[in-house]
Amino acid sequence: MAVITFQEHSFDCAPGQSVLDCLNAAGMGIPWSCGAGACQSCLMRATDGRVDPRAQAGLKPTQAAQGYFLSCQCLPGGDLTVVLGEPAAAPMPARVVDVTPLSRDVARLRLAPDAAFDYRPGQFLRLHRDDGTSRCYSLASVPALDDALELHVRRVPEGEVSGWIHDELTSGDDVAISPAMGGSFYLEGRPERGLCLIGTGSGLAPLYGIARDALNQDHMGPVWLFHGSADASGLYLREELQALQARHANFQYVPCVSAGPGPGLEFGNVHEVALSKLPELTGWSVHLCGHPAMVQAARRATFLAGASSRDIHADPFLPSAPRSGANA
Ligand SMILES: Cc1cc2nc3c(=O)[nH]c(=O)nc-3n(C[C@H](O)[C@H](O)[C@H](O)COP(=O)(O)OP(=O)(O)OC[C@H]3O[C@@H](n4cnc5c(N)ncnc54)[C@H](O)[C@@H]3O)c2cc1C
Repeated sequence: MAVITFQEHSFDCAPGQSVLDCLNAAGMGIPWSCGAGACQSCLMRATDGRVDPRAQAGLKPTQAAQGYFLSCQCLPGGDLTVVLGEPAAAPMPARVVDVTPLSRDVARLRLAPDAAFDYRPGQFLRLHRDDGTSRCYSLASVPALDDALELHVRRVPEGEVSGWIHDELTSGDDVAISPAMGGSFYLEGRPERGLCLIGTGSGLAPLYGIARDALNQDHMGPVWLFHGSADASGLYLREELQALQARHANFQYVPCVSAGPGPGLEFGNVHEVALSKLPELTGWSVHLCGHPAMVQAARRATFLAGASSRDIHADPFLPSAPRSGANA
């Protein structure tokens, strides 16, 4: 049995137990969210001992070389001494500007942070309730264009936080938000390259931010945004996106439905529609968000179409898994 040393305490890690589960079962309160190695909320660093490289998937080579790892993915093969990956930044207060419906099950939540909030459109933040529960939401706003932070929240059946946002939060309420995280955002420096943005449901949020950010920075290459839903009622911000397309000759908005054809809509799985329009993605930057199965399938398909894995940025909207001794 491996021994995990954290803050001068040692804990036995059972076979098959992750470092995150081991420490949180002991009440150490390590932050985490998706529990699946995607959101990087549970980043830690090994100061002694060897970390399995599988727990470093998705980290930068420089981070891996320094011993950083995702504690939810780390099943230790030997003893480890670990520290938190980043000093846990205290959540900052923010005020609810408004909560407005965008579609039958997606609401737009706008927030005004109490202090300057540094972020790139497409990154995500953690929204905290008073009881300590928190969830990740992606940023649809663009600092140069929008005063408030904008999040798109889909109501998940029985969902604790999404239900609270839809049913209880109102203008003027106080919440707390953590600093922006994630590496899916528009990178300046190659204004001629193509951008392929594919999302389902509220996965439109980061793509809406990335597309507007790129166009606002005079990106010259083609920018394609594919938004998928089962039926037309799940496609939102259509008028805004059509207006954006009318203003920018290099921007293409492609709404897609998978349950049955509809006027003005592409029919099929959103990533398959995207690949039928863009079969050759060598040199393109790809951003994928929303349903985890779509993100996984699209990652593979866009890679096979020529996109380099370092240019494929994916944020699957993974649920916060129940876990002993920790708050999601
Ligand atoms: C990096 C990242 C970015 C995210 N960005 C967004 C965003 O911009 N907009 C958005 O709406 N969501 C986003 N999510 C998902 C969000 O963090 C929550 O998981 C979601 O709002 C559900 O939380 P909840 O408290 O309402 O549901 P919970 O109380 O956590 O779950 C209730 C039940 O629903 C299931 N469930 C939870 N989430 C889902 C899901 N997505 N699909 C299917 N079943 C689910 C749970 O397993 C559980 O059975 C993101 C997630 C990650 C990891």
